Amino acid sequence: GQLDLLLHLLGPREADAPIQATIGALKKALRRMSRMVDDLTEVTHFDAGTLPLQREPIALADFVPRLLERNAEVIEGDRVEVAVPASLPAVQADPARLERILINLLSNAQKYSAPGTPIRISAERQDAMVEIRVADQGQGIPAADLPYIFDRFYRASYRRAGEGIGLGLYITKALVEAHGGHIRVESAVGQGTTFFITLPVA
Ligand code: ADP
Repeated sequence: GQLDLLLHLLGPREADAPIQATIGALKKALRRMSRMVDDLTEVTHFDAGTLPLQREPIALADFVPRLLERNAEVIEGDRVEVAVPASLPAVQADPARLERILINLLSNAQKYSAPGTPIRISAERQDAMVEIRVADQGQGIPAADLPYIFDRFYRASYRRAGEGIGLGLYITKALVEAHGGHIRVESAVGQGTTFFITLPVA
């Protein structure tokens, strides 16, 4: 908020552009730091067995576009193709946790693929569950790393320095499983990665 105020006070003067860029970078760094703190807090909750879920029916055809709008500063929405049919049944999920699950998968898809390449989020019903898929056309995950990517603090050697601490997928998996769902991944080096999660139909 204070940084936004600073930006506002600066106004649109040309000479202030470098300062505005610095403030923009600070905002990004702060958001990343607060995400890490949130991650650590969430992990502490799992360990203590105190992860209360506030579940409600969620219509993904509404939820996903709104989530992209809300997170426009973190996720480049114009890269994301949403293929969620309006006829899909609602899922029974905690909206804040579902947002975290999807943002984790989308930001990884963005982080580990070339700028501008498409990211696809799609969903379909499978019996009593809905399967949500997040697919990128990025570098892919080497077979040697695949068994470990959901482990706490695991980061493959190609990860980008300074971004993340290897808790994202650990938390994502724990949250999906807390909802009674399942997560898996398919990946081909040089072609891309798809994460599949299931959540119960409401
Ligand atoms: P972080 O992104 O903070 O390193 P995560 O737990 O989110 O931690 O991911 C663990 C590791 O899995 C990452 O370091 C990266 O090596 C790999 N990974 C996750 N998502 C993808 C993806 N979409 N494409 C390629 N590699 C990925």
